Amino acid sequence: MKKKCYTMAGITAVLGTAAIIGGCGGSSSSKGTEAPPTAIVSSVPSTSEPTLDPTKTPESTAASSAISPTSAPTSKATSKPTDSSNSSITAVANPESLQVIANKNRALPSNYIPDDLVEPNVPFPYKEKVEKRKLRKAAADALEEMFAGASNDGLTLYAVSGYRSYATQKSLYNHYVETQGEEHASRYSAKPGTSEHQTGLAMDVSSQSAGFQLEENFGTTPEGKWLAAHCAEYGFVIRYPNGKENITGYAYEPWHVRYVGKDVAQQVMAKGTTLEEFYQLAVPASGN
Ligand SMILES: [Zn+2]
Repeated sequence: MKKKCYTMAGITAVLGTAAIIGGCGGSSSSKGTEAPPTAIVSSVPSTSEPTLDPTKTPESTAASSAISPTSAPTSKATSKPTDSSNSSITAVANPESLQVIANKNRALPSNYIPDDLVEPNVPFPYKEKVEKRKLRKAAADALEEMFAGASNDGLTLYAVSGYRSYATQKSLYNHYVETQGEEHASRYSAKPGTSEHQTGLAMDVSSQSAGFQLEENFGTTPEGKWLAAHCAEYGFVIRYPNGKENITGYAYEPWHVRYVGKDVAQQVMAKGTTLEEFYQLAVPASGN
């Protein structure tokens, strides 16, 4: 079954064409196995969030040890999905950090709007001037460089969906609640604050060869393969790798790249790991 990231007409009305709902802050696994990373976090205090600049030599904090290439844990995606109640959602205290981690258990403040959003000068598969074209400046600059790199290799990447405001996500979520019910909404749409797109550091990327869709098969296209192979050189990671649902809370999304800076990106991608594991925010569930 293909993973689709968008397409409901009603949602298009809310977000404009090619509105995104998928794990890109939206739905979870296409296999119907809601995989909330309950393991990720409630026990991690917000003060331990990765606020440090990874290019500087960290010292003695928990976050610094997580940045060490030798101490970042390897994959242990063995935890089982458990209950998806809201009780484990932690408020993110450093939403402006380029290394901020937002996920189903770590919500961004409702009033957080990045103050440096710009539209990268890259191709989009639509004409509308909408908020989702935007990224924070550092991410936008890096995206332009990455797309230019792909172009040099004869491939054309398209930016589909970047920044998404809390208000937009709330509208999207409420739309689901109203039309599909709370249970469906909680399963297929990210709760406001929990979409990484609100950080302004994530972009969904596609290609003509993938029909500009955000689906798993993008990962098998020349553009998708190039993206996975080269994104770290520009400071991006494939945020939701294959087989890491229990860690990230999302099924494989070869189209969703997240800017974290070259140092972290290269370490994460070289290890084939996730940001949660890299920052030791994911702990295998126990007692369930
Ligand atoms: Zn996305």
